Amino acid sequence: MRRISILGATGSIGQNTLDLIRRARGDYDVVALTGGRNIAQLAADAREFGVEVAVTAHEDALPDLRAALDGTGVEAAAGAAALIEAASRPADWTMSAIVGHAGLAPGMAALREGATLALANKESLVTAGPLLLATAKARGARILPVDSEHSAVFQALVGEDIAEAERVIITASGGAFRDWPLEDLPGATVSQASSHPNWDMGQRITIDSASMFNKALELIETKEFFGFTPRQIEVLIHPQSLVHALVGFRDGALMAHIGPPDMRHAIGYALHWPTRRDLPVERLDLAAIGSLEFRAPDLRRYPALGLAQEVMQAGGHAGAVFNAAKERALDHFIAGRTGFTEMTAHVTEAMQAMAPHAEAMGDITLETVAEVDHLTRKQMDAQIRSRA
Ligand code: NAD
Ligand code: MG
Repeated sequence: MRRISILGATGSIGQNTLDLIRRARGDYDVVALTGGRNIAQLAADAREFGVEVAVTAHEDALPDLRAALDGTGVEAAAGAAALIEAASRPADWTMSAIVGHAGLAPGMAALREGATLALANKESLVTAGPLLLATAKARGARILPVDSEHSAVFQALVGEDIAEAERVIITASGGAFRDWPLEDLPGATVSQASSHPNWDMGQRITIDSASMFNKALELIETKEFFGFTPRQIEVLIHPQSLVHALVGFRDGALMAHIGPPDMRHAIGYALHWPTRRDLPVERLDLAAIGSLEFRAPDLRRYPALGLAQEVMQAGGHAGAVFNAAKERALDHFIAGRTGFTEMTAHVTEAMQAMAPHAEAMGDITLETVAEVDHLTRKQMDAQIRSRA
């Protein structure tokens, strides 16, 4: 029996992970599940899988969680320290699927205990890539990518020498506004930005797909995880979302990964790695699909891609600044305090204002990343107030 924990179990990735585990119940012993305010879901899953501990991120939700788990023998806990404690319990495989900066410390806790970390939380790599990789190395722990593009790159590299890869192309659907006239983008609403043409995901990542802040994070993630240089990493718009990434080798060959837009493929690959097992995903009928299209992204529509290049060139804490700025700008957009296209202007301004602080911060540690994150959010809030 493999011991499994899921951080962010109530979210889109967490639920897809549980769906796969539910199909092979006898193989897995689920140790810990964590969630946020969806106590009913967290408690139902904790009961169903008979876990040791269920944790909500919110201390004020603990009485509800306790009540929902009464008589089950499942421990209930709440708050940041409880998340770390749960993530530190011995496990063979831990899914890191909390959204945002909040996922970094619990994921690090799992790595420190030597668990294989299935990493959906791309923000960890963007803000603290070198720290994550060094911790994994020191502990003999492995990180397996769960983001679909990175799982695709990882699979295209199986049996290859990465030194012989000369470029990587990750694809993007283009999001909700791919075909909108550019002049309409400033008026885009939250609900319009929250609908994705191909993938069914959490709301925040769906809006980040429309702005391509998500693809910007993925460029940085590609650099941090695989060690490619910024010039080796490209983005192509691919409206069908069937080719997830391509790796180009020195002999000119391009190895593409093709699969349905279903996160259970990437999750299942990480779950069963290094073997492959049957997965409940659609089998593609390429003859029925007929054609696959690709086109270069327009930086006027997707300025976040340009910012990602700047972040990759700067290195250090620039990733933490970028991530915090875009997370906070997104909070303000969702709350109706700023417009869709204004998010980029705000993030650019925050990156400029924060650059000297980020440089002065020195080596990347959990503490420095948290400090940069905190200062950047304050900076963003001040910017939004001053424009109100
Ligand atoms: P989601 O919003 O559906 O779920 C997020 C989970 O994190 C929930 O369990 C929530 O309770 C928990 N959470 C939120 N804020 C928290 C906090 N402050 N502290 C502790 N827990 C908190 O998100 P998702 O779409 O499942 O995405 C999760 C991660 O996976 C993100 O990093 C995202 O970028 C990445 N990812 C998602 C997809 C996808 O298809 N959804 C694809 C690739 C990568
Ligand atoms: Mg992705």
